Amino acid sequence: MSKLRLAVIGAGPAGIYASDLILKAERDFEVSIDLFDRLPAPYGLVRYGVAPDHPRIKGIIRALYEVLDRGDIRFFGNVRYGQDITLEDLKEHYNAVIFATGAIKDAPLVVPGVDLDGSYGAADFVNWYDSHPDVGLSWPLDAKQIAVIGNGNVALDVARMLVKLPDDLLETDIPDHVYKGLSASPVTDVHVFGRRGPAQVKFSPLELREALHVNGVQSIVYEEDFQYDEGSEEAIASNNQVRVMVKTLEDLRQNPQEPQERRLHLHFFSSPVEILGEDGKVVGLKVERTKLDGTGNVTGTGEFLEYPVQSVYRAVGYFGSAVDQIPFDANTGVISNAAGRVIDEAGKPIPGVYCTGWIKRGPVGLIGHTKADAIETIGHVIEDRSSWWQPTRPGENQILETLKDRNVEYIDWEKWLKIDSREKALGESAGRERIKLFDREELLKISKG
Ligand SMILES: Cc1cc2nc3c(=O)[nH]c(=O)nc-3n(C[C@H](O)[C@H](O)[C@H](O)COP(=O)(O)OP(=O)(O)OC[C@H]3O[C@@H](n4cnc5c(N)ncnc54)[C@H](O)[C@@H]3O)c2cc1C
Repeated sequence: MSKLRLAVIGAGPAGIYASDLILKAERDFEVSIDLFDRLPAPYGLVRYGVAPDHPRIKGIIRALYEVLDRGDIRFFGNVRYGQDITLEDLKEHYNAVIFATGAIKDAPLVVPGVDLDGSYGAADFVNWYDSHPDVGLSWPLDAKQIAVIGNGNVALDVARMLVKLPDDLLETDIPDHVYKGLSASPVTDVHVFGRRGPAQVKFSPLELREALHVNGVQSIVYEEDFQYDEGSEEAIASNNQVRVMVKTLEDLRQNPQEPQERRLHLHFFSSPVEILGEDGKVVGLKVERTKLDGTGNVTGTGEFLEYPVQSVYRAVGYFGSAVDQIPFDANTGVISNAAGRVIDEAGKPIPGVYCTGWIKRGPVGLIGHTKADAIETIGHVIEDRSSWWQPTRPGENQILETLKDRNVEYIDWEKWLKIDSREKALGESAGRERIKLFDREELLKISKG
């Protein structure tokens, strides 16, 4: 019986599911897995993307925790592939690698004014409110009127976090600096803009319903934004999600909410054409009204509107980053791959190298979707047994020696549990489940403690 020594890079849901599934898969060889992440903490975007007021989703962390707590997957946090370990190292120690490095950056939006002061990428704001260890403590929340560009769940998260009464976040895991930052915000109006109509939004029904019913916030939709063409009618008839979302928006249209001091406006058929500025600062957003073309797509109408806003958040999608020494498709932001097998320029699979999750198929889809991804990828790993690498230093302690030689301060599972306990203890003393720690040095210190 042979053995697969597998390295997995990225301890987000994709990396954890892939590790778990290969251990449970039918196979005639043993598997031992080392799971690396550049951050001291596991769970990827479940910890650093999902909004703090989504504790139900954060419950997924519980399931991921249980996988890692079993003890048959070794966790190495604070180890960055491409810096602390290289492809050559992996070949020396393992039979194969799965890259599950996800996405952390915003997709670009090319409109004039995008570089003005007050124009932000959603991912940067998400990283701030989710206390990512690589971002600063302060965030400029000085705008009364704010535009959020995009019609996906991230746009809703960002809009909700901007408009929500900060005291309603006190039961979540946000640290003090995030609470204080949000409390100082003078915001009164958040406007969300989508290019297309109610039947074309990319939200999830649950997210939309939640965003439209925030305590202390009046949600507003506009009569002129309710247009449907043949493509829309087809989508409403054939897709349950679309039907539910259109109904949710139509309900709001028919039953306007009571006025409140804060407002969330949803605008459809509004394509951003320019972020307007004065003295280098955002003062408005110019949009072109669009209209349906019969197929559910839209064209410009030549009618322009300007909204006075003092900041603009671009939530037009995330985008994957290139992974050192691994072929990358810069147009789509994914590792070049065929169903999880990493391929070279000629389209030929590169032995021993695989990918899964958002870095495999792009930053769309929910946490659950990364499971299907993982099943496909690990199927290929198992099938390709004859082309795995033949490592020269496969011993389980030998990778530890390599990390030690490099002075890499890795965080293993035991150390992570110390951080986890500290976060829970901090939460307990404030009547909350957890308060997130964010300072990398502090995290490392606690892990040694
Ligand atoms: C703002 C936001 C909100 C979301 N909210 C929800 C929600 O409410 N519900 C839901 O189901 N889904 C939600 N999602 C989607 C969900 O987060 C993704 O589907 C899922 O996290 C993708 O998993 P992944 O493992 O591929 O990537 P990630 O979760 O991004 O994990 C990748 C991991 O790889 C690590 N990594 C990257 N580069 C390296 C390197 N060089 N070396 C070592 N490690 C590296 C990263 O640190 C990270 O931990 C949200 C996404 C975003 C962006």
